[in-house]
Amino acid sequence: MQVHDSLVELMGNTPLVRLRKVTGDGAGGGRGAQVLAKVEYFNPGGSVKDRIAVRMIDAAERSGELRPGGTIVEPTSGNTGVGLAIVAQDRGYRCVFVCPDKVAKDKIDVLRAYGAEVVVCPTAVSPEHPDSYYSVSDRLAAEIPGAWKPNQYTNPQNPVSHYETTGPEIWEQTEGRVTHFVAGIGTGGTISGTGKYLKEVSGGRVKIIGADPEGSVYSGGSGRPYLTEGVGEDIWPETYDRDICDDVIAVSDKDSFNMTRRLAREEALLVGGSCGMAVVAALRVAAAAGPDDVIVVLLPDGGRGYLSKIFNDEWMADYGFLIPATEEARVGEVL
Ligand code: PMP
Repeated sequence: MQVHDSLVELMGNTPLVRLRKVTGDGAGGGRGAQVLAKVEYFNPGGSVKDRIAVRMIDAAERSGELRPGGTIVEPTSGNTGVGLAIVAQDRGYRCVFVCPDKVAKDKIDVLRAYGAEVVVCPTAVSPEHPDSYYSVSDRLAAEIPGAWKPNQYTNPQNPVSHYETTGPEIWEQTEGRVTHFVAGIGTGGTISGTGKYLKEVSGGRVKIIGADPEGSVYSGGSGRPYLTEGVGEDIWPETYDRDICDDVIAVSDKDSFNMTRRLAREEALLVGGSCGMAVVAALRVAAAAGPDDVIVVLLPDGGRGYLSKIFNDEWMADYGFLIPATEEARVGEVL
């Protein structure tokens, strides 16, 4: 019988799908570079973060940091939590997650549905503040007996999981033809691990391009707030390797969210806001690339967690992000 004993076995090995509409005439439409989306919502937890969840837990079990009956405590914007919750359920661990309050309520409800406990903290405080989600998760990890904090911002298994899975998958799926890899930067694990692998295997030929919300440190900002979830930072995490990116492209929330809506309507890819952001960056790369170039852009998660925000016209209008349909084709253009 073709049966899996656990969803954990189904993590990774996500498909590459060609973008055909949002690329317009200049790219992907036959004349320009191909833009291929690595669609991570095919993971059982619905996001790229399943990859790091299973590897971080495996390593902690091996090192003895996580023992039977232990509790996993992690600051997470939702996706890492889902991945951890799936593996934890499989192996009998308790989960306590700490989220900033900018995270969509639907995402928090999902974590609770998997049986995790969730503590919500204010976004508008500095990382050192005792109420920040970093500080609260540290305190809980110290107070709860048998607690283990994976810490996706420092855990080497985060980039390593991408070095060992995402990178080789992209190389094999493109038969070594990939020329550019584009991904958003949150912890930096995806871009650092995948980028390192692709650079090594191609002898430095593959260009690695980060996508970042305007205001975040990776693209030279000061950490000013932005609404795109899961990406951008106000600190430099250890999981981000500063030597990997050839370029980092800043994208506005407005462009990211409008591209996210186009991906759903034109490519039938119902994905999250950081996916729209990465695609805007990929299209900018494509605009300057040659016809033989193969640009792979990683789409971290699905769009169902954003229905009340990005896919809601009133919410978009409140922030001044809603644009007339006639302007949609120009989303992300550098004017
Ligand atoms: N997009 C979303 C929705 C995410 O949750 C994350 C992870 N924080 C990222 C992008 C960025 O991935 P990474 O942490 O590997 O840089």
